[in-house]
Amino acid sequence: MKIKAINGFKDILPEEVALWRQLETTAREIFRCFGVEEIRLPILEKTELFARSIGGTTDIVEKEMYSFTDKGITLRPEATASLLRAYIQHGFHVRQPVQRLFTIGPMFRHERPQKGRQRQFHQIDIEIIGGEEPAIDAELMAIGQLFLTRLNLEVSLEINSLGCTRCRPGFRKSLIQYLNDYKEQLCDDCKRRLNSNPLRVLDCKSRTCKALVQDAPSILDSLCDDCDRHFSTVQEHLDNLGVVYTLNRFMVRGLDYYCRTTFEFLTSDLGAQAAVAAGGRYDGLIEQLGGPKNTPGIGFAMGMERLTLLMEQQQKETVPVRANIFVAALGEAAIKHGSSLIYQLRKLGLRADIDYKDRSLKAQMKQAGRTNARFTLIIGEQELEQQKGILRNMDTKEQTPFPLLESTEHQAEQLRQLIRTS
Ligand SMILES: [Zn+2]
Ligand SMILES: [Zn+2]
Repeated sequence: MKIKAINGFKDILPEEVALWRQLETTAREIFRCFGVEEIRLPILEKTELFARSIGGTTDIVEKEMYSFTDKGITLRPEATASLLRAYIQHGFHVRQPVQRLFTIGPMFRHERPQKGRQRQFHQIDIEIIGGEEPAIDAELMAIGQLFLTRLNLEVSLEINSLGCTRCRPGFRKSLIQYLNDYKEQLCDDCKRRLNSNPLRVLDCKSRTCKALVQDAPSILDSLCDDCDRHFSTVQEHLDNLGVVYTLNRFMVRGLDYYCRTTFEFLTSDLGAQAAVAAGGRYDGLIEQLGGPKNTPGIGFAMGMERLTLLMEQQQKETVPVRANIFVAALGEAAIKHGSSLIYQLRKLGLRADIDYKDRSLKAQMKQAGRTNARFTLIIGEQELEQQKGILRNMDTKEQTPFPLLESTEHQAEQLRQLIRTS
């Protein structure tokens, strides 16, 4: 009986890995220019960390976490909480007043798997901690914009403000009041969260809920003076940087800790309009997790499954990996010579292959084609005796003698020069 991977847990195959690496390399290059440093975090944390940060009444904590209940630990469902836990634990706030950090890795949520969404999914997560200036919000969005543009992805940026602990309760109240009049028409999810998490009704995907909230009060009308000023200054800075955005007063976050600026990068290339990156400000969270008082923070996460899907769609042609040299060796002595030669080639940093099975020349040439080699060096008993192999250019089919003189180290050097100049 074959054992298969768990539903929602996916292998990333060699032919897909190239895209993943491109994604990670691009992220690292761009983040470096913005002074964003990498941090690597464990995937297991105390369950309490997520209950305290994400909030006990959210879907994530209520039903989507993979927890070892007897040990009180959980596979992280997102990265922000872990990153902030590390920030607090290692006293990052005394190192620099504003700390820019990113992490890349797998997250785990028990959701219904669908295209581009797995139960083990991967995120690039970036956080700027210690700065409350609107310029920082704009800078963070500029990082996202630049990164996604560098990947040749067509995305649009939408922004909103969620207010703060002073002005949001008032908005929440008037929203509940408004929604209560239409309670019977709301979808089941929204009926349930009307009192616990009414803001989520604003971004509900159900058609009737969507229509109902069109005339709901706008959060942007109930911001306090500080939040209002903050949000308009964020927009000034975005304009200043030339980052294009639109306001979306229906955008909210699923997690309780977000406040003020919130944003999403969206694409319609995956069918329905979908977010490839989402984030926002969480000024009270660090203190709530036992960190230093009044430490503001803002961050966003990007789903790597979605990003690679998009990249795959846009890059129709992938450049296949090419082996530099395939050694087709016939007979025991030739295999010995060939295996020493490819080891020397590999030491020189070249991709080289050999077939140890001593199969027919025809079978080995077929194998050379599979590895997409540029050259095949054919060595049989006769070639060894005469110290002269046959070098075949796999593109032009041209064959030239190749001297098997001196050491294999020397021969590898000759081949390297040949590859370089061809
Ligand atoms: Zn406010
Ligand atoms: Zn709904």
